[in-house]
Order: sequence, then structure tokens, then C-alpha cells
Amino acid sequence: MSKQWGFTTKAIHGGKMPDVHKAVAPPIYQTATFYYDTAEEGARLGQEIPPGYIYTRWANPTTRALEEKVALLESGEDALATSSGMGAVSAAVLTAVKPGDHAVAPSAIYQATYQLFADILPSYGVQTTLIPDSSTDAYERALRPNTKLLFVETPNNPMLGITEIEAVAALAHTRGAAAIADNTWATPYNQTPLTLGADVVVHSATKYLGGHHDVTAGVIVGRAEFIKRAKRQVRIFGATADPFGAWLVIRGLATLALRVERQNASARRVAEFLAGHQKVSKVYYPGLAAHPGHAVARRQMRGFGGMLSFEVKGGYAPGVRAFEALQVCKRATSLGGISTLVSHPAGISSVQMPKDVREAAGIAEGLIRVSVGIEDAEDLLNDFEQALRQA
Ligand code: PLP
Repeated sequence: MSKQWGFTTKAIHGGKMPDVHKAVAPPIYQTATFYYDTAEEGARLGQEIPPGYIYTRWANPTTRALEEKVALLESGEDALATSSGMGAVSAAVLTAVKPGDHAVAPSAIYQATYQLFADILPSYGVQTTLIPDSSTDAYERALRPNTKLLFVETPNNPMLGITEIEAVAALAHTRGAAAIADNTWATPYNQTPLTLGADVVVHSATKYLGGHHDVTAGVIVGRAEFIKRAKRQVRIFGATADPFGAWLVIRGLATLALRVERQNASARRVAEFLAGHQKVSKVYYPGLAAHPGHAVARRQMRGFGGMLSFEVKGGYAPGVRAFEALQVCKRATSLGGISTLVSHPAGISSVQMPKDVREAAGIAEGLIRVSVGIEDAEDLLNDFEQALRQA
């Protein structure tokens, strides 16, 4: 029955939460371990879940409820919650490749994912290619006989580049490779990569799924067989979700659709306002008809999301003056929550990326990235107006 429900009904009522007292709000099983009565029971619980729980690094009922909800929302067979988005990204990637394999990712992606592909995977004997743009052609040109993974982030960070998930997944499958999509920026409300052919979805639940800037968590969604292998990695590496963190994400999911609808609408207004502003030279938002990825985004997204970037005319100095003059928008790293957050990618979030790679990815010195929150849109427009006056 839950498979037929609408998005928010699934987000609220999907996922089993066993509770003897029939609590409406899900209980938090804030326990590291679970007791058992016989040696035989302990041995059984130690091997397989479900049914039953033995140790929270293995599995936990609150965390399991989150996994079942996200699997439903992403149309996946199963899911695995992790302690952070990078816990999800690294566990999914390390489940998909082994030494001697080759993996492809765009260089304009979240900076820690960039470092995973640029430094960490090669040090484990996995060959990687970081492609300068995220078009299907660029992925195709990077293919090698041993390619086992195409990693996609769309819209991507911080330039809002759009990758055609269906085409890249099909390309991966011609080589027996897996397509992993980071769906953090779009959210399952706006886009479901698994229905477009991707094999695995990863999330930083720290962002929209949690939605309130108060939790660090991640989720991997995919076929049961893949999740089972990823679980083994996570249990051994230890990036397991904490029950209270999982509970905060469950609470966030209940309002995901409401928040994202508003963020989609407000981001469009902010993007249109900035596109018409004389002190702004460029606006990157897939909802604008002028955006190069607009047609693909229209096909594969139900909404264009709450993220955008823009360049202030004149480069670094005026860009930083406008950035520092913002009052409602908070200068903070991270995204996807109730408060509008702005960052200066050339200065902060891309600091780990070499300057030439950053420039090739189009990250200009005066670029400002905006994660539109749920404040009143008028207040956001007024804030950008007064800040740009000081640019
Ligand atoms: N993926 C994307 C697209 C992100 O933007 C981020 C963080 O900003 C991450 C993954 C990493 O998430 P976390 O900080 O929860 O580890």
C-alpha cells in the first residue's frame, strides 16, 4: 500500500517503527546495544538483520525507520543511513569499485567528493578521471575498458551544472559499470535518479532531508544486494548513523515537500531578481530558460530546487563587499535548510581544489552561492538589493 501513497504520506507514514506503546511520534532507540537471553539468540542476531537488533553500529530500529522512509521516497529497494553525507558517498563508491577499476566524476562537484576521486581512490589503487564538464559526451570520452563507476552530481556544486541522468546511466550500463547519483541538491521531491536508470543514490541528509541545520547524516539507496554490501563496509569503517541523528532526519522528512516547494518558488524569484539586476553579471539557476541545462532539467526534475549561484560584476572585491553586506542571508557553509545560507566558493568551499581546476570549472572569484531557505521571499529580495547597493 505504501508504494501507492503520495510523497508526503510516504514521508510521514512510510517505514515501519515497532513500538509497544503505539507512540505517534517515532521513539528514539538511544541505545548502543541490545540484550539477548540465550547464546543461540545472540549468535543469530549477530549475523543477520532483520529481525532483531544486537548493536547500533550494526543496526538500530530508529535508524531502520529512516532507511525505510528514504528507500520509499527514492523508489529504491533498500537504504542505509550513515553518519554523514561523505559517509554515504565514500561507502557507496568503495562498494562500487575495487583496486584496478576505473571511476569517472566531474571536477565541479562537492569538494570532499572531489578529493575522494582526486587523492583517496588513487591511493587505494583505483584509477580515476575527473572530467572538466558534466556532459554525457565528457563521460563517454573518459570511458576505459575497466571503468566500473560513473559518479553524477546534478545539479552540481557550485555551478548548478545539469547532467542527463538517463543518458549517463545508460552509458554506464553499456560497460557493466554502476551509475551513482548524489541527489542531495535536488532532493527526492524534485528528482528520483533511480527511476531514470541510476543504480545508486547518495544523500547528505545534513541538507534538505534533515532541513534544519541541526544534524549531520547521510543515506545510500539502491538495490538490496548493493545495500547489503555497502552495509558491510559501513559496519567495518564505522560511519553508522546515530539514532538521535536518524530521528532528526525522520522529523525533517515529514516537512520535506512543504519546504522544498517553497524553496523552489523562492529560489526562482531570487534568480529572476538577480538576473535583472545591473550589478550582477551571471546567474546560474536551472529554472532560468537561459541556463544551458534548462531543457534537461525540465525533463528530469519536478522542480528546479533551492540552490543558485551568481557573479557580482567586477570580480572579487565587489563580490566580497556584497557577500559581507547580506543581513538576512547567513554566511555559512552547508545548504538545504530553513535559513538562507550564502557561501563564497572561491574563498571557502573550493579551497581544497587547485586554482586551475577551480577556474576550469568556471568558479569565478566573485561567485556567490545561495541556498534559499524558507524565509519570506520579499525579505530575501530586499536583502540582496541592499547588499548589491554596497558592491
Ligand atoms: N554531497 C553534496 C552534494 C554536498 O553538498 C555535501 C556537503 O555539502 C556532501 C555530499 C557531504 O555531506 P556531509 O557534509 O553531510 O558529509
